[in-house]
Amino acid sequence: MAGGNVRVVCRFRPQNRVEKECGGKICVNFDDKNTVRVQSEHGTRKFVMDRMFNMTTPQGEVYSYAAKPVIKDVMDGYNGTIFAYGQTGAGKTHTMEGPSLRSSTDKGVIPRIIDEIFEYIEQADPSIVFTVKLSYVEIYCEKIRDLLNPSSVNLPVRESRRAGVYIEGVTEKYVSSQEETFQVMEEGNLSRATACTRMNAASSRSHSLFILTIGQKNQEGSTKSGKLYLVDLAGSEKISKTHATGSTLDEAKTINLSLTVLGQVINALTDRKKKHIPYRDSKLTRVLQESLGGNAKTTLIICCSCSSYNCEETVSTLRFGERAKQI
Ligand code: ADP
Ligand code: MG
Repeated sequence: MAGGNVRVVCRFRPQNRVEKECGGKICVNFDDKNTVRVQSEHGTRKFVMDRMFNMTTPQGEVYSYAAKPVIKDVMDGYNGTIFAYGQTGAGKTHTMEGPSLRSSTDKGVIPRIIDEIFEYIEQADPSIVFTVKLSYVEIYCEKIRDLLNPSSVNLPVRESRRAGVYIEGVTEKYVSSQEETFQVMEEGNLSRATACTRMNAASSRSHSLFILTIGQKNQEGSTKSGKLYLVDLAGSEKISKTHATGSTLDEAKTINLSLTVLGQVINALTDRKKKHIPYRDSKLTRVLQESLGGNAKTTLIICCSCSSYNCEETVSTLRFGERAKQI
């Protein structure tokens, strides 16, 4: 896994109204494009990553650096994954989707990727036949739910020599334009939101995986296929022990299992002595197994608040990124 296949970038969002009202101050300083210093009660800590995006960095710049390069890999037939990691409210969904999929300035990483993929196809040699299919699932309490078929609530993960690791029975929608893709994504978001109200606002506790598969067949009949996982992770904050007792505490453990195991997988990948990587210990890492090692390209977008009000969470979020950086 050496060779720097994991790119780790970090994005800070501006202070929000609540943070300001609580007397929050900006607690981060940027030395250069790679380095941030965080001031907390425990002193100043320095973090170095592949790129730091400050509070004024526009969506387009985050996309160009953190996401655009992966498109070429996927078109060349490799797998890629882009993760957004951070506490609830830190800007994961803003970064991945944006406030709107269609705003030319504010749209996030996913709609920009979709635009670029269809532009690529339009400009490619017309004798190449492309297929674009997508799946959209969420993982909540270690169950995979199909957001494009809400009656599938606990899809199994299987593995075969030919197909590798896959989610059995997941809906795969073929799409042929940006607009069609956005509509499928919106359909999935809607089914996510509906289920969330039933499950007591669980969206911050579930992981969403938007999965794009691009197939190509040329005139000679040779084929290649690349898969891109776009993952908006559950909030990384610790679930308050005071509010969780009995079965809710068990639920809390399951809720965070995939995130905990993701950390363990990252740790194991950074430790050359460790031969066993615990991919199988959670649904998330199992699904992403082939994208978290080997030739796959992975980008981790660490999302943080710049406010002293959230300083402790910001430091622990940055530590996670720092560990992943060592892969
Ligand atoms: P998360 O998905 O991590 O829980 P959100 O993406 O929903 O967090 O962001 C929480 C709020 O902060 C939203 O209202 C969002 O618009 C705002 N926000 C997040 N990141 C930024 C940013 N870089 N610039 C401006 N506003 C942001
Ligand atoms: Mg979110």
